[in-house]
Amino acid sequence: MLLDDFRRVTKACRCPVCDHPDWCMVSKDDPPSRAICQRVESKHRWGDAGWLHVLHDDGRTWVRTRKIIIPVRRPLADFSVYAAKCRDRVRPAQLERFAGALGVTTESLERLGIGWDGRNWSFPMSDAEGLVRGIRLRTRGGDKFAVTGSKQGLFIPGGLGNRNPLLITEGPTDTAAALDLRFDAVGRPSGRGGTHLVIEYVRRHKPGSVVGVADTDAVGRAGQGSGRDHGLLLP
Ligand SMILES: [Zn+2]
Repeated sequence: MLLDDFRRVTKACRCPVCDHPDWCMVSKDDPPSRAICQRVESKHRWGDAGWLHVLHDDGRTWVRTRKIIIPVRRPLADFSVYAAKCRDRVRPAQLERFAGALGVTTESLERLGIGWDGRNWSFPMSDAEGLVRGIRLRTRGGDKFAVTGSKQGLFIPGGLGNRNPLLITEGPTDTAAALDLRFDAVGRPSGRGGTHLVIEYVRRHKPGSVVGVADTDAVGRAGQGSGRDHGLLLP
């Protein structure tokens, strides 16, 4: 067997030798016939990976009760249908007024998938793959909240063209403003939120360069790790 034939143990699939959820590995066959344990020694040292244990080839080598945990994972809710319904409810005149009040174009808001839920403006929030995992709502008064069950996510506009640099903005309306300036931009949920999503997005899409755009408030500055007043800050 090669090291490639093993996978790391997890909380759901613990090391059958030491019963820990980390460090050790089990073979990928099912049920696993071998384990490489980092904690319990055997006669066979496997390099830095640990000690090799044969689990149940002969039914006797390994006699120990194994905890079997069957993970019940709820699939992440897909909010794309909700987002599409909201999108269909937008009335052009109303969107025109809203865009005018924000000082952005309706086109940029539409690229961000803006919708109307009957009372609030809605923006889909996506994971790094672009799957809609939540809906940001914005009241007429400008208050922000999210549809119940939403995950925080990125505001990813349609029609990004691999322009450089990619701006990382804060929230959907800043993102719309950046789009109006003909930048490619992706919005994070807040000044400090969604960092891991941004990193994943950048890894996936590999833009030539990335520039974080900070708000001038304290959160924006802290989120960028800089005390500079405004504008474009290299992360
Ligand atoms: Zn172990």
